[in-house]
Amino acid sequence: MKEITKRTKVEIAKSPDGLEGPGFFATKLEDVVGMARKNSLWPLPFATSCCGIEFMATMASHYDLGRFGSERLSFSPRQADMLMVMGTISKKMGPILRQVYEQMAEPRWVLSVGACASSGGIFDTYSVLQGIDKIIPVDVYVPGCPPRPEQILEGVLKIQEMCQNESFRRRESEEYKNMLNSYGIE
Ligand code: SF4
Repeated sequence: MKEITKRTKVEIAKSPDGLEGPGFFATKLEDVVGMARKNSLWPLPFATSCCGIEFMATMASHYDLGRFGSERLSFSPRQADMLMVMGTISKKMGPILRQVYEQMAEPRWVLSVGACASSGGIFDTYSVLQGIDKIIPVDVYVPGCPPRPEQILEGVLKIQEMCQNESFRRRESEEYKNMLNSYGIE
């Protein structure tokens, strides 16, 4: 019985820094929103080849992405905030990937999983896009061919860190708009 209790112990998300006293807790709105975003990322898996199989392992019970609040996959860009690109992206597929990115609402984050998505990998050919950052901005790159599920989890943790620390003003900033404009995205 003791063993079961030990194994089923669930840790709750860490609350942001703030002032605490009997019956009250005061903190910044930005930190609370960051905490909520961090722990409820909805991934959109854009998996085209072998790295997608590693993603399946990442979702399955042994690694269980659900432990990080991301068990709810979305195959609709409008209900997703973390685009996970996994696998070889051909130049023909590029416009589709970009359309998916454009249909996602802000704030959105992009995780490029594996060598193919990040740089074309071993496919230095006329038909393969040499990195998805040629067409959409990427927040975190996960190296490897294929990356192990632990590496994919680490990439998600890095995105979570960005969610937690992102200021409300970032998406409205000139710098961010200029970055999107450099991709031809309004
Ligand atoms: S990086 Fe390697 S494992 Fe991943 S899609 Fe490319 S060839 Fe496959």
